[in-house]
Amino acid sequence: MNTDAIYARLPIAVQELACTYAGWKRYRARFTSHFEKTLGAIEALDGAPLEGLHAYQLRRLANLANRARRHVPHYRAMGLPEFVPTHDEPAKGIAEILGAFPILEKQAYRDAPESLLAEDIPAERRLKGKTSGTTGSALPLWYTSESLAEEYAAVWRLRRRVGAQLRNPHFTFGGQMVVPLGASKPPYWRTNHYSHQTLFSLYHMTPANLPAYVGAMHTLPVTYIEGYPSSIHLLARAMLEAGRPLEAGRVKAIFPSSESLLAFHRDDIEEAFATKIYDRYGTSEFAVSMTGCSAGNLHLDMEFGAVEVEAVEETDDFVRGALLVTGFANDATPFIRYRIGDVGTRSKHPCPCGRPGEVFLDVDGRIEDYIVTPDGRWIGRMDHVFKEQLEIAEAQILQEEASAIEVLIVPRGGFDAAAEADVMREIRMRLGDEIHVDLKRVGEIPREPNGKFRAVKSRVGRQPTQASVEMDGREG
Ligand SMILES: [Zn+2]
Repeated sequence: MNTDAIYARLPIAVQELACTYAGWKRYRARFTSHFEKTLGAIEALDGAPLEGLHAYQLRRLANLANRARRHVPHYRAMGLPEFVPTHDEPAKGIAEILGAFPILEKQAYRDAPESLLAEDIPAERRLKGKTSGTTGSALPLWYTSESLAEEYAAVWRLRRRVGAQLRNPHFTFGGQMVVPLGASKPPYWRTNHYSHQTLFSLYHMTPANLPAYVGAMHTLPVTYIEGYPSSIHLLARAMLEAGRPLEAGRVKAIFPSSESLLAFHRDDIEEAFATKIYDRYGTSEFAVSMTGCSAGNLHLDMEFGAVEVEAVEETDDFVRGALLVTGFANDATPFIRYRIGDVGTRSKHPCPCGRPGEVFLDVDGRIEDYIVTPDGRWIGRMDHVFKEQLEIAEAQILQEEASAIEVLIVPRGGFDAAAEADVMREIRMRLGDEIHVDLKRVGEIPREPNGKFRAVKSRVGRQPTQASVEMDGREG
């Protein structure tokens, strides 16, 4: 019998002991003295003027670049000169160092991952990365306990800004199988008593079971909520339909993780839980961190890395394109100018929230999240098509070839011919009249093997031969 089968047979109280033990182990691995030190340092920098952030960024970048040229075979072979961590204009110093390196493609990393290993990190300090590629084979990844601590410092600076503290009571909607699949009555959740965390099962959220979840939202202790936005959204819709939104002040904030937050998620969730969503963009390569603000934008955590945008679209207001990321926290496998496969839109204006530093209007996720039109245009953010469609429970767009898309819709009661015409109009507005659109009504939309929901899946833009390495439930 495997451990899952044994767990399923345990009484609930013993399952909760197992959840508590696992939670204690996670806590000890993440919230180390290096975490405390890093959090203290970046909280002291919080709100510093841009020049100060650039100077700090330049020091860390020069340190990374010099370690790379001395200790990482892939970079050592380039014969680069010593980099100096000072400059009259730090922003120019950063650009000069980055400009000395070629772009690192996923292909190059996949072909020879060990050539990116830093030899000054002893093997016993290396941790092997867990990758959850949805396509192709997974890539190995190495990091250290310090990398993990720095990632969590970025996560917790955001959380503490909005009033959440470590070990505050919280709800988690993650991929963990905490409730046996066969369970047919509540509770569909288990408690990790050490962290005061209630872990909700994503695999029991059927219409028949949702009222039990709605009840739990009103009664169990909570300060903040974290997890997959598609699941939190499902629950938000159930709360609104039952006329049971939360009272303002019960939940301080919602922190989505692992999946992209879609346009139609945000409004429903913020209404049902009477609070704000603070999104975050991170990757399991520890290569970039961006954190949400009250204006709904993403601020680059400049202490952890530098991001360049390869412009495919540029206006007076923004520049959009593939992201090239350079993370300072992954000391074991340094990625410099890594084309991570995500696309983002950087604003050319200061954020209305008042925080200084680089700000992104969105990060759209993977290249595979783009629909390619017959005339070769790349269209992102297709989830906006369904933003105003309250008659649609869920929707997904699939594309196998450039000439056609298939749109799967899980309809609600009021989804009629007029609503369908609205959807078609929104699609045509973005994709044009040439592409063939096949609209199908379905009972449900299957999740990916890792439990995640994907709004768009296209095989056209780039053959999905590369593993996509994502953050997988690390926020919990
Ligand atoms: Zn902002």
